[in-house]
Amino acid sequence: MRYTSQRQAVWDEIKNSTEHRDAEEIYLHLNNRKKIKVSRATVYRNIDVLVKNKLVRKMDLGDGKALYEPKVDEDHHDHIICVETGKITEFYNEELELLQEKIVSEHGYKLVRHVHQLFVKPK
Ligand SMILES: [Zn+2]
Repeated sequence: MRYTSQRQAVWDEIKNSTEHRDAEEIYLHLNNRKKIKVSRATVYRNIDVLVKNKLVRKMDLGDGKALYEPKVDEDHHDHIICVETGKITEFYNEELELLQEKIVSEHGYKLVRHVHQLFVKPK
């Protein structure tokens, strides 16, 4: 496969999914399910490029693990991450958004972006 079509394949794979997956899952899905032969290194490198170009959102889990999701045309949302099951729940809370802006404003700043991840376990 040509360089550009490899990147296109990686992008299509992420774009057409609503899941939060790590690079390994994306790589395995491309090769095993879609039968698109791309090397692990190519997939990982292209994901990084897509993140840098703001097409893909990288969600750092803080333990060296990262999950990816498409970012284009998407409303902002934050994540609830279950540490036991790995389940990811998306949420948006207007009150929380406004509160964050208020807090930084009180400290003399303007909010540029934020990452809000709530690590949870089942009750
Ligand atoms: Zn998400």
